[in-house]
Amino acid sequence: MPQKIAAGNWKMNAPDPAEADTLARQHPDPGVTVLLCPPATLLASLSERLSQTKIQTGGQDCHTAASGAHTGDVSAAMLAAAGAGHVILGHSERRADHGESDGLVREKAEAALEAGLTPIICVGETLEERDAERTLEVIEGQLSGSLPRTDAPLIVAYEPVWAIGTGRTPTPDQIEKVHALLRAQAPSDTPLLYGGSVKGSNAAEIFAIANVDGALVGGASLTAEAFSPIVSAL
Ligand code: 13P
Repeated sequence: MPQKIAAGNWKMNAPDPAEADTLARQHPDPGVTVLLCPPATLLASLSERLSQTKIQTGGQDCHTAASGAHTGDVSAAMLAAAGAGHVILGHSERRADHGESDGLVREKAEAALEAGLTPIICVGETLEERDAERTLEVIEGQLSGSLPRTDAPLIVAYEPVWAIGTGRTPTPDQIEKVHALLRAQAPSDTPLLYGGSVKGSNAAEIFAIANVDGALVGGASLTAEAFSPIVSAL
């Protein structure tokens, strides 16, 4: 059975860190992996703050190299040293804002594994691709290009670009079709997360879909009040 995971992606937001304490109090031993991925500058302090709790932390991106002349970048080893156990890679916002290709995401995933981090590899179609009925082909291409060439444990997140921050979600049938493809393509027992406008009110319906093992949550991970019902729904 794949692990059940509720992952919060804070993106470029700095909520009150006390929200994390509240979340930890509400889920002292949630029976699912709960993790928060803050901006890199907050990772060490948040990891320290949560060190006596079951809540884990992760980064939002890493460089392919372990160190060197890469101004502004952060390596996987640095994330690990700051307390992270995971790193989100290939998020559609990185792919769009920084032109990240599948090949680069794969190299980053291999660097993350090397540093002892579990990569959370993101894939997802745009609205144009869905309307052109190219969703499965696009996801298959992204996944085969982005997955590291090892059997090391990792996590895959399906995040349709048009569902991120929009309040729109695919139908259960649409999610099920993509997750069946992910299950067939990813190493066995890979946790498969859905992301895109997940909230307390739709989490249970999404978690009931075959091969959905959890969620990657943006906006609703910024407060304990919004994130806690999602953790509970797992
Ligand atoms: P929202 O939950 O805000 O739609 O963001 C999803 C996401 O991009 C998580 O990585």
